[in-house]
Formats: sequence, C-alpha cells, structure tokens
Amino acid sequence: MRSLIIANWKCNPSTFKEAKILFNSLKKRLKKIRNVEVVICPPFVYLSSSKFQVLSFKLGAQDVFWEERGAFTGEISSKMLKDLGVEYIILGHSERRQILKETDEMINKKIKATLNNKLKSILCIGETEEERKEGKTFEILKNQIEKALSNLQTYKLRNLIIAYEPIWAIGSGKPCQVNEAMTAALFIKKLISHLYNQKIGRSIRILYGGSVNSLNASNYIREAKMDGLLIGGVSLNSKEFVKIIKQLN
Ligand code: PEP
Repeated sequence: MRSLIIANWKCNPSTFKEAKILFNSLKKRLKKIRNVEVVICPPFVYLSSSKFQVLSFKLGAQDVFWEERGAFTGEISSKMLKDLGVEYIILGHSERRQILKETDEMINKKIKATLNNKLKSILCIGETEEERKEGKTFEILKNQIEKALSNLQTYKLRNLIIAYEPIWAIGSGKPCQVNEAMTAALFIKKLISHLYNQKIGRSIRILYGGSVNSLNASNYIREAKMDGLLIGGVSLNSKEFVKIIKQLN
C-alpha cells in the first residue's frame, strides 16, 4: 500500500498570499509523485482556494464540528468540508486536547460525524512526557482509543486512520525512537483486533507524527513499518516536505 503523508499546517501561514505560494510550490514539486498519497491540511480559510488546483495532493482539515448545520457559532461541519473537496479530517490533535480542552467525548462525536459523511478520520493519540516516564504510555493509548471509538460500528473503521503522536515529540526536535514507534503501532493494531476483529486490526493504517524531517522520515516507514507520517513544522517548507515524499516514492 502507498505511504500516507499528511501535512498539518496548523495555524499557518498568516496570509492568503503565502498560502497560495505554498500550494503552488507543492503542486509543481509533487507532479510526478505516484506512489505516495499526500494530504495537505491547511487552515479552514485556505481550503476553498486550493479546491481547483488539487491534482497532486488531497485535501484535509484540522478539525470539524459534529453537527451538520444550525445554531453553532463559529463551527464548521463535515458536510461543508466535503462540499469543498476535503477527504481527510485530523481529529483529537494534542494541541486541541490541551489548549482547547477538547475531550474524548467530543472527539468521539466528531469521529462519528466524519465517518458518517464518508470522510477519512485521522485520530491522533499520544502520551505526555510525564506519562511516558511513569510507564503509562500504553494505558493512555488504550484509554484514548476506547473512548474515541466508543459505540462505533465495525464497518465504519474502514475509513479510520490512527496517528501515534507522542506529545513530547511534537514540535520539540526530539523524535520518538523508531523501535518505540513500532511498538506503539503494534500495540494499537492488537488493541483494535481485540476491540473489533483481526482483519480490521491488521488493515487499519497507523501513522507516526512528532519532529519528522527528511533525515528520519524513511526510517519510520522502512524500519518501523508505519503506514505513513503526520508532519507539522516541516510541512510548511515545501522543499523539505517534498524531499521526504520523494524518498518514499
Ligand atoms: C503535528 O503537529 O502533528 C506534528 C507532528 O508536528 P511536528 O512535525 O512539528 O512535530
């Protein structure tokens, strides 16, 4: 299966002009990429500007609201995103969990809404540095997965992707060891097999995210056998980001 590379632009860049430059640069550089599935997740406001130029990559969003329409000031629904050509949604990112106090219950509702709309959900999970030191990593991952997937029908998991993103590795320049990422991915697959069935456990795609760059990216794919990567900081540098993709193409 092709590697899945997700770019999380977070709250960047700060102007439409800069976003357009980045989109155009990616479009040009990614033209000949066939063996890697690339998804760009810009801020909501730049999604429509990229709608008609998306040939070399797919579009994703960084969040969504669980209701389809109505009196929910400031929110954006799965249906609206789908209408713009969005195919993937990042959910439960640690920055949203920590800064915006997003709960597992909210993440569960968002996952259900996106999967009901046949969008692909990328569920982010991961432990803090403190939890890791206390040996609680697997307990945290189990808890986050069980709560996020609570009451979710088995067939809907076809469109679910899980990103293992240790919080201490995000934006810190301290990436997770390749063997640690591999152990976490195996744990997640086993848990999904246990919660659902072996077929789903085996086929669910697991990504790694946290300080990925062009020097370490291919190790997670080739050695740790991750199905893809979620890339934050480096995805804003089109040259460096495409360098990673070319290594995997
Ligand atoms: C992220 O935001 O999910 C992420 C992995 O960021 P970075 O690549 O900058 O660590």
